[in-house]
Amino acid sequence: MKKSKLNDVNVVGGGLAGSEAAWQLAQLGFTVHLFEMRPKTMTPAHVSGKFGELVCSNSLGSTLGLAPATLLKDEMRLLDSLIIKAGESARVPAGSALAVDREAFSQGITEVLEDHPNIVIHHEVVSEILSGPTVIATGPLTHESLTEAISDLVGAKMLSFFDAAAPIVLAESVDMNHAFWGSREGNQDYLNCPLTKDEYMAFYDALIHAEQHMGHDFESATFFEGCLPIEELARRGVKTPLYGPMKPIGLENPFEQGRRPYAVVQLRRDNAAGSLMSLVGFQTNLRWGEQKRVFGLIPALHDAEFVRYGVMHRNTYLKSPAILRPTLNAKVREDLWFAGQMTGVEGYVESAATGIMVARYIAQWLEHGNIQPFPRDTMMGALAYYITHTDPEHFQPMNANFGLLNLPPEIQQIHDKKARRRWLRDRALSSLKDYLEHIGVEVSHHETR
Ligand SMILES: Cc1cc2nc3c(=O)[nH]c(=O)nc-3n(C[C@H](O)[C@H](O)[C@H](O)COP(=O)(O)OP(=O)(O)OC[C@H]3O[C@@H](n4cnc5c(N)ncnc54)[C@H](O)[C@@H]3O)c2cc1C
Repeated sequence: MKKSKLNDVNVVGGGLAGSEAAWQLAQLGFTVHLFEMRPKTMTPAHVSGKFGELVCSNSLGSTLGLAPATLLKDEMRLLDSLIIKAGESARVPAGSALAVDREAFSQGITEVLEDHPNIVIHHEVVSEILSGPTVIATGPLTHESLTEAISDLVGAKMLSFFDAAAPIVLAESVDMNHAFWGSREGNQDYLNCPLTKDEYMAFYDALIHAEQHMGHDFESATFFEGCLPIEELARRGVKTPLYGPMKPIGLENPFEQGRRPYAVVQLRRDNAAGSLMSLVGFQTNLRWGEQKRVFGLIPALHDAEFVRYGVMHRNTYLKSPAILRPTLNAKVREDLWFAGQMTGVEGYVESAATGIMVARYIAQWLEHGNIQPFPRDTMMGALAYYITHTDPEHFQPMNANFGLLNLPPEIQQIHDKKARRRWLRDRALSSLKDYLEHIGVEVSHHETR
């Protein structure tokens, strides 16, 4: 398909959503101007100038058959997702999760985008809303200058809240006399650091009394439930971590004749070499010195070398139900789309999914002047529907989950949860295929899991 200059599209932000949108548009034959401020101007969380950098966990979510994250990834595969392909190429062992070597992952995405003949890369800060068809995908750490420009345009206040990242330690610094490989699912993918009851109580007490970063911004912090700092979780009750990230169920401690430990901290490989290990579920806002002291009370981590401490950051997102159309373009400007975390979806894969949707919407709009939204019974369509139809005053970021998909009454009556989910999954995939056929898209053959 030959495109005129008028069919040039700007994509601002080369994170998960922007990289995916740029790739999809370029594959469709559009000329894409991809603007990314890194490495010249960094965010507080990114560390490189690469596209698609993962700022915290290295997991792209579950691959279990009936998990919502699996359905989302399956839908994205049908649309030839760059992020999913890069994730599969950079995969590291992590049980049922699609975890990646973060370096290889972003390097793979960077090479694809840099080599694409239809993509022109500009490493610069965008401080105003560009004219012509534009996607803004600048993420939770959008540069202030652009945040102001967006606020001026949409005339509504931006909301912000805070996310927390978990620390990473050097694998070789973990004391293997107090740690063992294994997982709650029976494989050997996690390095488990057990605690006795006494050790747990000492750790718990230190954790809830440790000093936190208390910048002005953090004083009024509210947290997304899925990313609660471990100290916040612990303050909810002495046993709360034991039902969350420190759950010992399914684990047998070889140092205690195979008995179940009282509590466990699990470490997961953070790179393919397995030299870096992240503390699963241990997002934190403790001061760095306090992290070393408090996490050092976990016997296996008494001499652990922290290569990255847990950190907290701003998360900026739009009041999307008030600002965006169901097709993710601005109510005040039809040719301005938003994608990624700033639309109020939560998570790497969800962000990339909005990048795909937006690319398809732009293609339809430029070619036919109107847009067919993704069906609501697909996970992608349900997410987009949620963020554009919820009560704007109580709008909170959302990740993929089966609660977003409507269940007809006859299916609600099926007691077996797995059977209900299977039904929802099958309906979603078949509905997406119909939709793609309807809008004239060839379904990708990259459908393998
Ligand atoms: C500290 C922290 C921890 C997180 N942990 C997780 C996690 O563990 N798991 C998870 O799924 N999600 C996590 N998230 C959410 C995560 O940011 C998103 O899931 C995902 O990165 C969002 O993708 P995105 O493309 O919207 O934004 P990003 O991936 O952040 O990409 C936005 C890009 O825009 C660029 N940019 C910003 N402003 C401008 C500008 N004005 N001009 C040009 N370029 C600009 C940035 O440099 C960046 O590259 C975390 C977020 C933060 C802040």
